[in-house]
Amino acid sequence: ATILSIETSCDETAVAIVNNRNIYSNIVASQIDLHRTYGGVVPEVASRQHLETINLCIEQALSEAALDWEQIDAIAATVAPGLVGALMVGVSAAKTLAILYQKPFLGVHHLEGHIYASYLSEAQLQPPFLCLLVSGGHTSLIYVKDCGVYEMLGTTRDDAAGEAFDKVARQLKLSYPGGPIIDRMAQTGNSQAFALPEGRVSLPTGGYHPYDSSFSGLKTAVLRLVQKLEQENQSLPINDLAASFQDTVARSLTKRTIACALDYGLNTIAVGGGVGANSGLRKHLTAAATEHNLTVYFPPLKLCTDNAAMIGCAAADHFNRGHISPLSLGVQSRLAITDVMKLYE
Ligand code: ATP
Ligand code: MG
Ligand code: FE
Repeated sequence: ATILSIETSCDETAVAIVNNRNIYSNIVASQIDLHRTYGGVVPEVASRQHLETINLCIEQALSEAALDWEQIDAIAATVAPGLVGALMVGVSAAKTLAILYQKPFLGVHHLEGHIYASYLSEAQLQPPFLCLLVSGGHTSLIYVKDCGVYEMLGTTRDDAAGEAFDKVARQLKLSYPGGPIIDRMAQTGNSQAFALPEGRVSLPTGGYHPYDSSFSGLKTAVLRLVQKLEQENQSLPINDLAASFQDTVARSLTKRTIACALDYGLNTIAVGGGVGANSGLRKHLTAAATEHNLTVYFPPLKLCTDNAAMIGCAAADHFNRGHISPLSLGVQSRLAITDVMKLYE
C-alpha cells in the first residue's frame, strides 16, 4: 500500500510517502535549533512550530514522490505516545486530508514506528526478532512477534538512554541534544579513564533484573565526579568523561540485549531510536552479537531518529491487514506498545 504519513510527536515535523518498505519521500523539518536555547523541548513552542511547518512538509513530500492523490491508499499519523499538543497538529492534518480526499485514516504508535525503521532498511527482515529501542524517552527490549503483536521484556526504571546522554552532556556543559556531542567527544577520550557504575535494577526476590536498565545512578556518579574535579580546580577531562560514560551505557545495553535474545531464542536483533546512532553501542553490540552468532541491524541515522517514513511503513503493514482507525480516534500522551491494536477497528 502507498501511505502518506505524518509524525509530530515531539520536535520533528515529518511527512513521508512510502510504499510498504520503499521510501518515495521522507521530509524531516527539525526544530532542534529552536529548542536549543531552552536546553530541551518546550511543548508550546513545538506545537506552534509544527503548525507553521506542516503544510510545507506535506507539499514537499508529495512533490518529491511525484505522486498525486489518486495513488495514495491511506493517510497515517502518529497518535501516541508524545506531547499532546504536538501530536494534535499532525493528527488534525491527517484527518483533514483523509476527509478531503476520501482516504482511510490510520493512527500509529510512535514506538511501533521506531521498530518499523528496521523494516525500511532491511528488506528481508521478518518477525520474530528482538528490538532494542533506545530513544529520548525510551529504553525498551521488545519481542516483535507480528504486526501489532509485541511483548515488553525490558525497560528503564528511571532515565531513558537518550535522556541520560542529554543530562550528562548538560553536566559537562555541552549543548543540546547531548547524545551526538558526547559521541563525538568520546572518539578522542579514554573510556577506561573513570570507572563508573553501570546501574542495575534489584528484584524483590533478590538479585538483579536481567533486562531492565537504570541510568540515574550513573548520571549522579558523573555529576559527583565533575563536582569533585571542579572543587580541586582541575580542568574537566571532558573527552575522557564522555568516553567513560558512553562506554558504560553501551556495555550495559549490550549485556541486557544479548542476555534477552539468548534467553528467548531470538537470533536477530534490530535497533531503533536516536541512541541507535551511538558509535559505542554499535561497536559493543556488534562485537557481542558476532561472538554469540546473532545478527544485529542498525538502521541508518536518518531512520534511527524521528521520521515519518517509519510511521508510514507501520501503517502500510496494518492497512494491508485491513486495519483502519476511526476518525474519532484521539491522541494520547501515553500508550503501551502492547495496546497498539486498540488503535484499529
Ligand atoms: P521517543 O521516541 O522515546 O519519544 P525521541 O523521538 O525524542 O524519543 P529520538 O529522536 O529517537 O528520540 O532520539 C533522540 C535522542 O537520541 C536524544 O536523546 C539524543 O541525544 C540521542 N542521540 C542522537 N544521536 C546520538 C548518538 N550518536 N549517541 C547517543 N545518543 C544520541
Ligand atoms: Mg527528536
Ligand atoms: Fe522517537
